[in-house]
Amino acid sequence: MEFRDLKKQYEVLKTQIDDEITKVIQASNFISGKQVRELEEQLAEYVGCSHCITCANGTDALSLVLMAWNIGENDAVFIPDFTFFATGEVVSFANATPIFVDVEQDTYNIDPIKLEEAILQTIKEGSFTPKAIISVDLFGQPANYPELERIAAKYNLYLLEDGAQGFGGRIGTKKACSFGNAATTSFFPAKPLGCYGDGGAIFTNNDELAVLLRSLSIHGKGSFKYDNVRIGMNSRLDTMQAAILLPKFKAFKEYELSDINKAADYYTSSLGNYVTIPVIKDNYYSSWAQYTIQLNDAEERDGLQQVLRENGIPSMIYYPKPMHQQTAFSNLTFDENALHTTTILCTRVLALPIHPYMVKDEQEIVIQKILNYLKK
Ligand SMILES: *Cc1c(COP(=O)(O)O)cnc(C)c1O
Repeated sequence: MEFRDLKKQYEVLKTQIDDEITKVIQASNFISGKQVRELEEQLAEYVGCSHCITCANGTDALSLVLMAWNIGENDAVFIPDFTFFATGEVVSFANATPIFVDVEQDTYNIDPIKLEEAILQTIKEGSFTPKAIISVDLFGQPANYPELERIAAKYNLYLLEDGAQGFGGRIGTKKACSFGNAATTSFFPAKPLGCYGDGGAIFTNNDELAVLLRSLSIHGKGSFKYDNVRIGMNSRLDTMQAAILLPKFKAFKEYELSDINKAADYYTSSLGNYVTIPVIKDNYYSSWAQYTIQLNDAEERDGLQQVLRENGIPSMIYYPKPMHQQTAFSNLTFDENALHTTTILCTRVLALPIHPYMVKDEQEIVIQKILNYLKK
């Protein structure tokens, strides 16, 4: 059994993907080929934003936005304590200071009440200037944007949506990657919409920001490539990846997103009475980057993972460590007590295999092993 079955997806989409790859090689337009612009137009339309700027990966996407906003030394950026390392890494990489904020135990996303407390505390201490919030759509569910947008406006902060796991999710009819002042996503192969290598994108409705981001992603270019007006990066999505994403995005819209939701619903209805299942809030829709359950403690969780492993069922611990416990951040100070929920979650979470091509029989095996382990 695969955790996320990319080979099965390829079998289904093989003809279209192979054709697209061949076209790129025949045209030999490997950088900035027409497929890149075509993909950007399709992505922007789907998300409902006026601009999509693709780039080399989801981490660069975040860095480019922080660069465009001139975030640096003595600035504070608020991020969830429970996320993939990149969300905090880009803040330190920009020479700013990440302030870790606890998450909600049921949705895994940043807790707006704790966020406001952290902002007030930072203002009171006065060492750093609050500049931005990076919220994460963890495991596929959008964060609480109505509240986050209110808080960002109240304290005059930029809001950046890290939608690396959230692409395809929505609140009502408003899609993930359309919230805040800008949003980013990742096309890392195992993300909801993945390519065959690294890739990323930025979304915004701000025309000036879009122009600046495009320049920053191509060596700070001005009117042409060899007119360089600012210090930027070399961060582009190559044509091959864009070409691979075109048929994959079509499948994503046509059936993959709804099929993975059916798989999630099946886990939820079968496991809901026995373990803590992920909570999707009313009016929210998840793209199910992960299906993450919670056990009672580390012993029970690790025991289950062992049993699943013995039965050939892959599972993952996202994430084994809170951001505030990462060695790379050991120079930072924080209030451990204010990050209690994340610390607990890291001992209890377990992500189960899920993908749009997973059949009920496979899910049934996972479910039976879990129920059997819990003696239900
Ligand atoms: C994957 C991920 C990233 C980074 O994306 P890459 O394309 O791997 O650089 C950033 N934030 C979150 C929440 C992620 O899951």
